[in-house]
Amino acid sequence: MLFASLSAKTPTSAIALTALTPSAFAKWAAKESEAVRNWFAANGFDGKSAGSSALIPSHDGHLSRVIVILSEPASLWDLAALPAKLPEGTYSLDGIKKQDDEEKLALGWLLGSHRFTLHKKGEEKTLTLCVSKKCPTQALTHMAETIAQTRDLISTPAEEMGPQELAAAVQERAKTYGAKVSVIVGDDLLKKNYPSIHAVGRASHRAPRLIDLTWGNPKHPLVTLVGKGVCFDTGGLDLKSGSGMYLMRKDMGGAAVALGVATMVMQRKLRVRLRLLISAVDNAINEKAFRPSDVVTMRGGLTVEIGNTDAEGRMILADALTEGASEKPDLLIDFATLGGARGIFGEAMASLFTKDDALARELMKAGEQTEDFIWRLPLHPSYAEKLKTPFADLNSCPPAPYGNAMIAAAFLEKFVEEAPRALHLDFIGWQAASKAGRPEGGEAMTLRAVLTFLEKRYA
Ligand SMILES: [Zn+2]
Repeated sequence: MLFASLSAKTPTSAIALTALTPSAFAKWAAKESEAVRNWFAANGFDGKSAGSSALIPSHDGHLSRVIVILSEPASLWDLAALPAKLPEGTYSLDGIKKQDDEEKLALGWLLGSHRFTLHKKGEEKTLTLCVSKKCPTQALTHMAETIAQTRDLISTPAEEMGPQELAAAVQERAKTYGAKVSVIVGDDLLKKNYPSIHAVGRASHRAPRLIDLTWGNPKHPLVTLVGKGVCFDTGGLDLKSGSGMYLMRKDMGGAAVALGVATMVMQRKLRVRLRLLISAVDNAINEKAFRPSDVVTMRGGLTVEIGNTDAEGRMILADALTEGASEKPDLLIDFATLGGARGIFGEAMASLFTKDDALARELMKAGEQTEDFIWRLPLHPSYAEKLKTPFADLNSCPPAPYGNAMIAAAFLEKFVEEAPRALHLDFIGWQAASKAGRPEGGEAMTLRAVLTFLEKRYA
């Protein structure tokens, strides 16, 4: 739920929301009345820290103006604390000179009003920010809504977000944008040759599935997105500890973000043919559970010895990547919460693996522009070396105390050899402590960066 909105029309009753850099604030405050300066001092407001704000009363005690301090350059999050702080009402943004800045701030304003309200009520107020006529309010609202939906999918408890519900979420989006969806469920995965998805998901009463969405003009270049959809990860027989398992409803974060990117690609009608492949499983335990040391013959024929049943994400991605790569798409991008990247970057940024230097530069640049940071890690042969085992072509998770993100990427690399350009994104997908605009819970990491990167390539 978003309780704030944008408007391109400014009613005369709107309260001015003036955004100033610290130096512009100092100049502005010097010209104000002594009463206003005293008010700032009494409230400990010095106008020096980005994102801080002051609410100025009128003579009769009503709110007459809001001051908010900007970063230099302006940040997406500068206005994001305001929706929680401001009283219900209509505000008009002023003080912004660059259109880019206005768009950024407006998106942050919307995200600052996102709450996950499935099982707990959010704020019951409505807020409107009036922006200039040039500001694309509708596109920004769609973006904020898609980010909110992505976060909500991740935050939804596993009981209410199993493989079937994840497929339903994809079908719902497909309906909105006229895309086609097919789903291969349970034992049909074996008939259709997706053995790894079946092996990981077969021990749950909630059947595993491959969700396959297609959209767009067949003449346009093909972009294939692949998402890891582990709806809950117990670790399987290599059972996780209690603390390690607590957040594992977020293990479908890759799938949620891939769906979010797909939604924005369709919403903005990029000139691509889109395919979205989501491997959806519940990594559970019963007598059918796959075991450490079992060998799975993958979709492409490679044999894989299960090193650890908790390294299930790379297994289910592998069959979907083999299918995706077989069409030789212009771009093949997978989104995953494999765990290795979390240990390196936490929630500050996502990791990227690709052989393509130019694409890596472009995607990292898009990450900078959108404050959705992505950092490249190596596909170095020394990590692939570790995948060797006497019992199969590859070990899914060799015993290695360090370098897990790189080892997982080296494993996935074996399944995308047919794709001319492949990118693997690994991230935590979770905000551990609330920050302005980013409440604790699921986080749509890489969504803004990848969309911007795709828009530049296929505008
Ligand atoms: Zn796992």
